[in-house]
Amino acid sequence: MPVPDQAQQPRIVIGGFGAAGAATALALVAEGVSPADITIVDANPQAGVPPKGPDARILALNAGSRRFLDAIGVWERLAGAHWPMRAMALSDSALNEEIRPRLLDIDAPAEEGAPLAHMVPLGLLNAALCAACREAGIVVLPARITAFQAGPDHIAIDMGEAGVKAALLIGADGANSPIRRMAGIVDHGWAYGQTAIVATIRHTLPHHGEAVQHFLPSGPFALLPLDENRSSIVWSEQSSIADRILKEEPQAQLREIAHRAAGWRGEITAVEAISAHPLRLMLARRFVGERLALVADAAHVVHPLAGQGLNLGFEDAALLAEKVADRLRLGLDPGAPDLLESYQAARRPAAVAMAFATDGINRLFSNDSGPLRVLRDFGMGIVDRLPGAKRHLVGAAAGQGRAAPRLFRG
Ligand SMILES: Cc1cc2nc3c(=O)[nH]c(=O)nc-3n(C[C@H](O)[C@H](O)[C@H](O)COP(=O)(O)OP(=O)(O)OC[C@H]3O[C@@H](n4cnc5c(N)ncnc54)[C@H](O)[C@@H]3O)c2cc1C
Repeated sequence: MPVPDQAQQPRIVIGGFGAAGAATALALVAEGVSPADITIVDANPQAGVPPKGPDARILALNAGSRRFLDAIGVWERLAGAHWPMRAMALSDSALNEEIRPRLLDIDAPAEEGAPLAHMVPLGLLNAALCAACREAGIVVLPARITAFQAGPDHIAIDMGEAGVKAALLIGADGANSPIRRMAGIVDHGWAYGQTAIVATIRHTLPHHGEAVQHFLPSGPFALLPLDENRSSIVWSEQSSIADRILKEEPQAQLREIAHRAAGWRGEITAVEAISAHPLRLMLARRFVGERLALVADAAHVVHPLAGQGLNLGFEDAALLAEKVADRLRLGLDPGAPDLLESYQAARRPAAVAMAFATDGINRLFSNDSGPLRVLRDFGMGIVDRLPGAKRHLVGAAAGQGRAAPRLFRG
């Protein structure tokens, strides 16, 4: 393993070379930090290689994330590998009802001429981010961060046989973040008892760029548009039912999916790349420690029903990079406590708000209560008739209304 010598110690070490870690590194460079001042460390030597396994997550990225990826030089690398989501329809019904009525249509764009979101395969996104890091000359060490010790002017980071000193450690090491645990940062949350089944399906009717969210008693079932007769599904199901379905033969799985889609895309002809993701809510009590900042899933995990997890993570990356670059430009310490506190003060409330909004929607809709259904359907009917309310919903999902970081504004 190449170990930086004392004269080449990086000023910033990023633990984790997933989408969030790579994006944070590129955001720092886009903000003017020298690539030589950044080192990424990842425990998995395959990080950044598109997965050959079954994780077929295709993420909805909002307008802010698209501008961010453009600004860090990654969007053009994804040419031909993303599909626009132009509208979304919501329905609410019991599983065995033959008709899923269309209760709310969301088609107001977050910005003129732009789609609501872009569907981007996570594997290709990771690969594009990682290739951009390597081309920028950012050092990537295949190692596991095993311990660290913060002092007044540096943080000493252990990676098994080797170690580095830096001014700041950024934890981008995912939902189970060893860095968060090693820092002694407590997290709050709960398991949903739901598992997200993700797959790509082929169907006979075109979707015309429209996404569908069927709220069903066991959890939301989303059909998300890819190319014309293909959609990605994100199906949150009670874990016991999901476990049974995942063990079934492919034809039986196809029938279960068709039952939930209820003909909205015609006949379903194929199911590909099925994978399962147990769902939970997690919020770190603090997003920062001594010379430490957490970003993305290391700091927060939210229900995927609104497709917001990595959108939040990219905004963390953009804001942290902005603050760190501004300090370095003035010759100041990028790991100073006031910088870290201001990062946390901006990002933790945004993550808490999204966690509780998605949790609330999941609780309100994932049940079989008749009176509750009448109430929520009445509410959706009202929103459907108010264009201003719809625009507000779309704007909130696109991250508008908050003071967005520079790279998010484009
Ligand atoms: C079903 C589902 C659907 C979703 N849909 C959407 C969507 O539509 N839109 C959206 O924005 N988000 C969505 N998300 C959320 C999104 O997938 C995650 O937010 C994102 O993938 C997290 O990326 P990350 O880089 O934070 O973590 P990870 O991808 O987990 O990367 C963490 C990295 O850290 C490394 N690591 C771990 N420990 C160490 C260590 N000790 N030292 C060094 N490296 C270490 C790991 O090897 C890994 O490479 C969805 C999530 C799910 C489950």
